[in-house]
Amino acid sequence: MTASKTLAERLLEGDKRALARAITLVENDDPEGWRLVREVYPHTGRAAVVGLTGPPGVGKSTLIGALTKARRAQDREVAVLSIDPSSPFTKGALLGDRIRLSDHFLDPGVFIRSMANRGALGGLSEAALQAALLMDAAGKDDVWLETVGVGQAEVDIIDHADTVVLVLQPGSGDSIQALKAGVMEIPDLIVVNKADHPLTDTMIREIRGVLTLGPREGWMPRIVATEAGKGQGVEEVIERLDEHRAFIEAEGTLAERRRRNLRAEVIALAAGRLRRRLEEALGHDEAFTALLDDVVARRLDPATAATRILERAEG
Ligand code: GDP
Repeated sequence: MTASKTLAERLLEGDKRALARAITLVENDDPEGWRLVREVYPHTGRAAVVGLTGPPGVGKSTLIGALTKARRAQDREVAVLSIDPSSPFTKGALLGDRIRLSDHFLDPGVFIRSMANRGALGGLSEAALQAALLMDAAGKDDVWLETVGVGQAEVDIIDHADTVVLVLQPGSGDSIQALKAGVMEIPDLIVVNKADHPLTDTMIREIRGVLTLGPREGWMPRIVATEAGKGQGVEEVIERLDEHRAFIEAEGTLAERRRRNLRAEVIALAAGRLRRRLEEALGHDEAFTALLDDVVARRLDPATAATRILERAEG
């Protein structure tokens, strides 16, 4: 009998159950989870991480199902992480959505996970990023990050993707407004799903109009029309994803982008820890209670109170 393998070893071998367990650990903010990420981190950075976002109901899950099928046909391993910050429930709430991915549940080359609760530590975004790293370490070639919404700042996990895909459907004018207003950064690829809809061409024209307002250098965002339910246009999405990846690798933007994202991640984690330390320190601090009394009684404004706290913390 060989010695039993550690969780990290099983994870690196691509064991699905080890991966599931590891994600639960980081989701629960278990120190073992953080140790695990530390151990496997040198093995990450290989997966193509694609973020898909867009309003509910446009067909993101259906599209991810179709893309997964296409990637499996290329013999690539896939992991899907669905992130829904608006759901007050945990896994169960998302199961309805996942039914569209059910074809893949039994495939050992496909790993599917939903996340809705914000972990105690850095929040949902941090937990999701750690989960994505674990998927990468487990040898998944493609990691799909699915988030709901357009321009929700709290879903900044999408910033950690190498390629960002915005999924829209004909008639979703709000999303075009969000793009125009700069609420959302211009994505790398825009998929207009439900192309069976009569307003598809109008929608594509509108998107082109918005894109001309964007930067003219570097990657020009592509638009692809799909009917995800029928698999129509899915091959083109795959081609565009590969094209984008080749582009950012060749231009050095992949390295740049990852560096920028990791910088944001390190700062977010550090900020989260500072906040927790501050809250712990102030929890039983009488001087702080007195300061707060002054703020409540309008004798002191909140900003001045914050300055005083920081002066004390640093002094
Ligand atoms: P999500 O909320 O963005 O993940 O959207 P879903 O994948 O759950 O899809 C929402 C609905 O749109 C489902 O009823 C799908 O069957 C349907 N749908 C997906 N793709 C298409 C399409 O290309 N054409 C049409 N007409 N319906 C689609």
